[in-house]
Amino acid sequence: MITKTFRYRLLPNKEQTQIIRENAEAARRVYNHFLKEWQRSRETAGLGLSFHYFTRQLQLIYRQKFENRNIDYGLLQNQYYELEKIFQKASRNRKAVIREKTPGYACSLHYGKNYEKFLVSLDNDHISLPIIGKMKYVNSRQREGRLAEIIVTGRPDGKFYLSLTCYATATPLEPTGKAIGLDLGLKDLVVMSDGRKFRNPCYGRVLRKKLSRERRRLSQLENNNIDHYEETSKDGKLIRTAVYRRPLTECRNYQKQRIKAADVEERVADSRRDFEQKLSTYLIRNYDVICVEDLPIGVLKQKRNVAYALADASWYHFISMLEYKANWYGRKVIKVNRYFPSSQLCSRCGYRNRLIKNLDYREWVCPQCGMKHDRDVNAARNILREGLRSCRYETLPSGQAGSSKGRLS
Ligand SMILES: [Zn+2]
Repeated sequence: MITKTFRYRLLPNKEQTQIIRENAEAARRVYNHFLKEWQRSRETAGLGLSFHYFTRQLQLIYRQKFENRNIDYGLLQNQYYELEKIFQKASRNRKAVIREKTPGYACSLHYGKNYEKFLVSLDNDHISLPIIGKMKYVNSRQREGRLAEIIVTGRPDGKFYLSLTCYATATPLEPTGKAIGLDLGLKDLVVMSDGRKFRNPCYGRVLRKKLSRERRRLSQLENNNIDHYEETSKDGKLIRTAVYRRPLTECRNYQKQRIKAADVEERVADSRRDFEQKLSTYLIRNYDVICVEDLPIGVLKQKRNVAYALADASWYHFISMLEYKANWYGRKVIKVNRYFPSSQLCSRCGYRNRLIKNLDYREWVCPQCGMKHDRDVNAARNILREGLRSCRYETLPSGQAGSSKGRLS
């Protein structure tokens, strides 16, 4: 059984928007409160909180703080499952960081487990949830499978989305007998082992300039409003926090600019997401095996690049997109160890050229076999070979060489 998520634009009215935000804020506070308790309990008793204890405490908090407001009790109760999930993950992976949720302009409501008790009705263009009431949504995609989860999210630019996760059945695609290696980058988001390159749609100069301009204006407005700084020391470190003349939520120009900046950011993210969806679908349709670095380390070296801010975590996103689609359609994604020197090896004879560590070498000639390499294509070829080797594919599946130079539409 697999899950698929369908996302729709949600159109709450002004009053509903306010209720969504209040509920998200209440859920956030409950989450943070019990996160601390959970950690304390793990340290002292070696165990997390029980659902029974959680509920009893939550009832007290609810009566004191939330009862006479438009807050959904069940939504707060669901925070238990969120916390349970986080701590389970943390016990499997030692490196996982458990953080409090910080307040922000984005918000989300998770009607996860037990969503049935929340859902009043769901039809072709309306969803009805308790307390929030009946909301219109844009039914842009046909949903399939049985509903498993409902998430309402609000983005900083003021738009709302409805995500419906459903249980669906996997439908394996016909094998194609082809494998491909991918090198991920900034300017070219994906370079393939057959020599094709797909340019990052967000790398455009105009959009980058616009984004940095809007962000600069926003920080100017913020700076104008700072009265002075307060210094506190925590764990021996000096922390400077700004004290505002007026709270930022009351500064109309700041808020206007914030939405403007968020709007550009979201447009960047949207076009990137769209591109990633199309590219990952194309790859999954056409290749049985896709080899990729588990973390594009070459990219991390370019941190100072402006585009990095745009791209940030989205390689992880792209890789996980490939992985879940592979899962749906019976394909295989192989992640190559990040310390594999993919760009330094010659993909023909295996000679290791340590000079190529330097990112300035876009093209190089192998001193041993004389082959001329494009840095990224060579890396993609090495990733392909290493991926197949690590999974004990002795030879490349047939049809690998000279595949068509079709373009992504
Ligand atoms: Zn060589």
